[in-house]
Amino acid sequence: MHKVLIIGAGGVGKVVAHKCAMLPEVFGEITLASRTLSKCKAIAAEVKERTGRDIATAQVDADQVAETSELIRKTGAKLLINVALPYQDLTLMDACLEAGCDYMDTANYEPKDLAKFEYKWQWEYQERFQQAGRSALLGSGFDPGVTNIFTAWALKHHFDEIHTLDIIDVNGGDHGQAFATNFNPEINIREVTAACRHWEDGQFVETPAMSTHQGFTCPEEVGSYEIYRMYHEELESLVKHIPTIKRAQFWMSFSPNYLKHLEVLQNVGMTRIDPVSYQGQEIIPLQFLKAVLPDPGDLGKTTQGRTCIGNIITGIRDGKPKAIYIYNICDHEACFAEVGSQAISYTTGVPAMIGAKQMLTSDWAKPGVWNMEQHDADGFMADLNEHGLPWKCIELDAEAAAKLSVL
Ligand code: NDP
Repeated sequence: MHKVLIIGAGGVGKVVAHKCAMLPEVFGEITLASRTLSKCKAIAAEVKERTGRDIATAQVDADQVAETSELIRKTGAKLLINVALPYQDLTLMDACLEAGCDYMDTANYEPKDLAKFEYKWQWEYQERFQQAGRSALLGSGFDPGVTNIFTAWALKHHFDEIHTLDIIDVNGGDHGQAFATNFNPEINIREVTAACRHWEDGQFVETPAMSTHQGFTCPEEVGSYEIYRMYHEELESLVKHIPTIKRAQFWMSFSPNYLKHLEVLQNVGMTRIDPVSYQGQEIIPLQFLKAVLPDPGDLGKTTQGRTCIGNIITGIRDGKPKAIYIYNICDHEACFAEVGSQAISYTTGVPAMIGAKQMLTSDWAKPGVWNMEQHDADGFMADLNEHGLPWKCIELDAEAAAKLSVL
């Protein structure tokens, strides 16, 4: 039985709190802390109602290292689960080193004034974590997270060498709103408006955002969607740790309605992340936009449909070409019935809980800073099946894999 400290009481934090509370034999004492204490208390009340368990709550500004390390010491936490925002990654890693606690998150650090998605800043902590005998796990959500684990598991069980990787993230859900993002609007819009980068023959190739797209039909009648190639952070760590990969691409589905709204918002300057002067004070347009958009944590009540996220992987096994598709399908309404959240928060929060479980109960917590694919994938894959995100793996022929056709 271990003590954990969850930081961030948003859509993802709510799922993590519920799923940890459902495993008392691993997560013995849970504290949920965020900037706004009332959000933690509301989640704690829901957890109590659904699971019968009490979780402690606290107020903390995770940008402040001393404040956070004091809270870590007070709670006696062995592991800090960071589901606040990527901006807090480095201060939370510092707080963990100061207080003597392991660390994990679901998204890589990005500076507030620069939408740059790189592991560089967090990889630089490698030596400090090693010297302190502490462990950090980076990116234990779905993508990054499960997509890294799918790739590592495929390499262990299906391939001698992986040559191509296509990660396809489809959200076939409908929330009934004119425009909303599935997770934190500021982080989401920074991500989707960034230039696309994909890995080809030993280097990242940059193309304009949303300029490459194609149709994709999901298995199990989730439907057909237009998917757009974009940059996603797991590409950086996967091509580093699996150097046989010749091409790696990430694709995400967007509805024409989402893209229409995004285009207008971009054209009028509402997605800018540099400060503008408004009535005597400086505001960041994208942060103001977040304040007027629906809170993704509230979308659960109205969201219907399913997500389908998976990897098409090709390579060689025993000298012969091979291709597989590994995927999970998740139902928005089933997630809401279980933990009161839609599937995007659920598909992030469940792998965060499983990553935490691996760190507390397996050999994952070795000293240093690690990406998911650097750990053995088997226990995590088994836990996905057990804790709400069952997956399937099917073989494809080479032609189908090249066309991203999985039926
Ligand atoms: P939300 O905006 O819903 O929640 C973020 C929470 O963090 C809020 O409760 C907020 O508190 C809190 N927070 C922000 N700044 C601070 C701070 N300085 N100190 C303490 N708490 C703070 O975001 P989501 O739940 O949608 O996303 C959480 C994380 O999950 C993000 O990093 C996101 O990038 C990541 N994510 C990862 C995915 C994956 O598959 N890997 C997919 C989706 C999301 P308050 O409300 O009081 O301001």
